[in-house]
Amino acid sequence: MRHIAIVGSGPAGYYTAEACTKTFGENARVDIIDRMPVPFGLIRTGVAPDHQSIKAVSQRYDAVSLGDNVRFIGNVSIGQDVSIAELLSLYDAVVLATGAPNDRTLDVPGDDLPGVIGSAAFVGWYNGHPDHATLSPPLNGDHAVILGNGNVALDVARILAKTPEEFAGSDIARHALDVLAQSSLTHITIIGRRGPHQIAMTPKELEELERLERADMQVSASDFPPVAEDAALEPGLRKSVGLLRTFAGRDTVNKPMRVTFDFFAMPVAVEGEGKVERLIVEQTQVDEDGHLAGTGEQYAIEADMIISCIGYRTPPIEGVPYDVDHGRFANQDGRIEPGLYCVGWARRGPTGTIGTNRPDGYDIVERIASDLASGVTDRSGDSGLDALLNERGVAPVYFSDWQRIDAAERDRARDGAPREKFTTVEDMLAAAHGEDAAR
Ligand code: NAP
Repeated sequence: MRHIAIVGSGPAGYYTAEACTKTFGENARVDIIDRMPVPFGLIRTGVAPDHQSIKAVSQRYDAVSLGDNVRFIGNVSIGQDVSIAELLSLYDAVVLATGAPNDRTLDVPGDDLPGVIGSAAFVGWYNGHPDHATLSPPLNGDHAVILGNGNVALDVARILAKTPEEFAGSDIARHALDVLAQSSLTHITIIGRRGPHQIAMTPKELEELERLERADMQVSASDFPPVAEDAALEPGLRKSVGLLRTFAGRDTVNKPMRVTFDFFAMPVAVEGEGKVERLIVEQTQVDEDGHLAGTGEQYAIEADMIISCIGYRTPPIEGVPYDVDHGRFANQDGRIEPGLYCVGWARRGPTGTIGTNRPDGYDIVERIASDLASGVTDRSGDSGLDALLNERGVAPVYFSDWQRIDAAERDRARDGAPREKFTTVEDMLAAAHGEDAAR
């Protein structure tokens, strides 16, 4: 019997577990360990609440969890409750699928002023993540500035721009819905440090902006290269650029809110008395290879709030080699050291869609199978972990407990919503134990 521990129950973790069951069949036991009492990581608290069809992939992960040889073990923090060295002594292979939940920092003067918020915190807030549920974003001003030209920037812009009615059918956290309903924002600016040809936004997400009830898009036609140059772009990017060109072609602004795309603007400082009041940017130029250079010309953008959507980093774990430059575990094709592997964003950095994690998971399991092919071990796996947790007074949450939490969240959903998430670990644990107080 092979014993495999997967740390992290997001898409990378679940696809790895699925691959383990396909590859090893009855000959492996898999424990998926998560510090939260609830599974699915990014699916639950990263994917936007109005993208329910993407979240539906968790049904596939349910099927994995319900298999005989896979356990979900929530409420156990690796690095705190149990060390990596201990896991390595208990399991034949340990796979880190911990994602990249920390924000890449902006690193400009003033980036710590109140009102400058990282996307991990903001997305976690509207998605009801216990780490961010108490965030209090200042939505009482006119103008929010969003930094970054990726899909997270678009998610954030869309959530800020939607009317309460447009959240029907979503599982946005109640606290966020209430605050967004009172928002006084009339203007959102999305800042890109390079140009329209360098965006990392996908067409589907741009099209969603177009359908917003109360917001018009505003793009300056002078930011684009000649249209003939679009032909050389990869098809998805060409479509996205085409959508931006459509936005630029419209000059009427009829709706009460504007979403402005401001390109070639590199953040250099945040200023304000005790809170953010303005962003200082330097104009940039981009050469034909996409490299950017500052022009030395600066201007100020008045801002009541800045949300920085410029990428993420994997938090280090004590005892695990770390690649500081890329913000992920130091690894060679997913191998960190004998018996220790990483997968998903913890392996390759924060890029790609949910589906990208599937081949990643299968690939790492192929490597594990090849590494384990020679040699027999007598690791205790699940029983050893249970004994250790018991000894330390750590009470895990199993998949059946999660099913109780899930049912309670569905029970307390507002009309038309799939669920109302619990936003504290205490409430999750109470629901796991069937306590009514949590409802
Ligand atoms: P991303 O796609 O890597 O975009 C990050 C953006 O931040 C880039 O435009 C980058 O510009 C910019 N940036 C980085 N450092 C900066 C700085 N110091 N100052 C100003 N701008 C800076 O990352 P993401 O938006 O966080 O998304 C992460 C992954 O999740 C992506 O693969 C994305 O497609 C995926 N995702 C998908 C969906 C969806 O499918 N609906 C939703 C959300 C996220 P440069 O290009 O100049 O570096």
